[in-house]
Amino acid sequence: MARYTEARCRLCRREGEKLFLKGPRCNTPKCGLAKRAFAPGQHGSNNKQKLSNYGLQLRQKQKVKRIYGVLEQQFRNYFEIASVSKGVTGKILLQLLERRLDNVIYRLGIGVSRSQARQIVRHNFIYVNNHRVNIPSYLIEKGDTIDIKAKEKAQGKLKDNLELSKKDRSLPVWLEFDALNWQAKVVRLPEKEDIGATIQEQLIVELYSK
Ligand code: SF4
Repeated sequence: MARYTEARCRLCRREGEKLFLKGPRCNTPKCGLAKRAFAPGQHGSNNKQKLSNYGLQLRQKQKVKRIYGVLEQQFRNYFEIASVSKGVTGKILLQLLERRLDNVIYRLGIGVSRSQARQIVRHNFIYVNNHRVNIPSYLIEKGDTIDIKAKEKAQGKLKDNLELSKKDRSLPVWLEFDALNWQAKVVRLPEKEDIGATIQEQLIVELYSK
């Protein structure tokens, strides 16, 4: 599966805000944006151009794609699903992204970043409703149970991740997690308010509706 492999701090610098793509490092002075708070590239430090409407819409779309680590075609597919679903398109789009299994593993704190959570899913550690699922884009549903069944050695690493994650973020209210038994439950589907990032999803809808 295609994925972004270049320097992740460049992505935050391009968006001008922390996207938290590197886990605990993002909250330290080593953060790429803290060190160089300007856009990447030769003219990044003196580019003060005001963005057009289109530019604002494009940046918003790029930001959300980068937060969730999805590429253009997949993001477009989510939009298509959202646009034919009942409800507000922008909110459904965010809900679809938030329901991805790799995101859920990240939200539980088992992965310190979404890219690490994606690897954990790929490594066959995750069972949804007692069935092994190794597809990061799998969409969870309300009431789903998620079991984490890692071998002893890997479990130590996952425990470390949990400790690290606890320092920076708390468990969202739409998830329950029994860390002793490595079992989680989806209490309800996530809402935009649960996401905790400044996202103007309406701009993305406007961009794709042209
Ligand atoms: Fe973004 Fe994290 Fe890099 Fe900071 S350290 S620029 S938040 S990826």
